[in-house]
Amino acid sequence: MFARNPLLFLFLFLFPSLSLISKATHDEESTRRTMEDFSGYPTAAHPSVLSLSPSSLSVDEAGLLRQIDELAAFSDTPAPSVTRILYSEKDVLARSYIKSLMKEAGLSVREDHVGNIFGRWNGSDSGVGAVATGSHIDAIPYSGKYDGVVGVLGALEAIRILKRIGFQPRKSLEVIMFTSEEPTRFGISCLGSRLLAGIHPLANALNKAVDSQNIPFFDAARGAGYDVRQEDLPNVFLTKTSYSSFVELHIEQGPILEEEGVSIGIVTAIAAPASIKVDFEGNGGHAGAVLMPARTSSAAESILFLPLHPVGCYVFPVATFS
Ligand SMILES: [Zn+2]
Repeated sequence: MFARNPLLFLFLFLFPSLSLISKATHDEESTRRTMEDFSGYPTAAHPSVLSLSPSSLSVDEAGLLRQIDELAAFSDTPAPSVTRILYSEKDVLARSYIKSLMKEAGLSVREDHVGNIFGRWNGSDSGVGAVATGSHIDAIPYSGKYDGVVGVLGALEAIRILKRIGFQPRKSLEVIMFTSEEPTRFGISCLGSRLLAGIHPLANALNKAVDSQNIPFFDAARGAGYDVRQEDLPNVFLTKTSYSSFVELHIEQGPILEEEGVSIGIVTAIAAPASIKVDFEGNGGHAGAVLMPARTSSAAESILFLPLHPVGCYVFPVATFS
């Protein structure tokens, strides 16, 4: 599913001015206008890229695919599967690999208390928020090698290309590797990004978070080299002006684009997982003798209720429940 087009898309999204340098078809132009409108990023062309042709923006596909394979080797299950659980030994090794690539690309690297990793290319105007892109590299058991990895390694390749063509950013550009997008270990998804967003209830809940081996979150983090305590978590929170924009490149996790033969799509809405606790009350009845129309047991009520009232449908018509 990984192709050259998604990376070019990433460029065009991050740096819409680049769209001025190519002669696009009518359809492509309408797509690009949409992206520019969506990003809100000024459309004035940057002088350093105006004279370049699209061929200057060539992706080192072989190098990128090699890096994806190298990262996939940090796994607790054999290839082609990837299993990389938060703060495990393989996760720590994979993090080191990402940091080494960031340094090789000339980025200044920092990590916050929970292990969100930031590789920054400082722009000429330090007074404006950075343009950021990135994703995650943790992987649920027996997953594939692309998932969030494409959004991290692809972003690094985008940075390398911009450096190769001599681009000089006005806004700082940053690649972010978010800690623990997957809920595998502590049952908490998007842990790193939600802390960056300053979600206080999550920060408070981490005090009680333990994994299936009863290892507390903070102990696991310390085992991975992050000396973090509850009182450190507010330091992870970002300010509203930290970034001016963010875009994530991610593989499609459904069948639509692949079935349609479309190489990339622009996300206009994302899944918003939520869980609720519902108590059902009812009266017991004999499983064989009390027929369904007369059954009012809590189990029967819940079975009948859930498919008919998926909670999300009131918010978003194509919501699903599980
Ligand atoms: Zn992902």
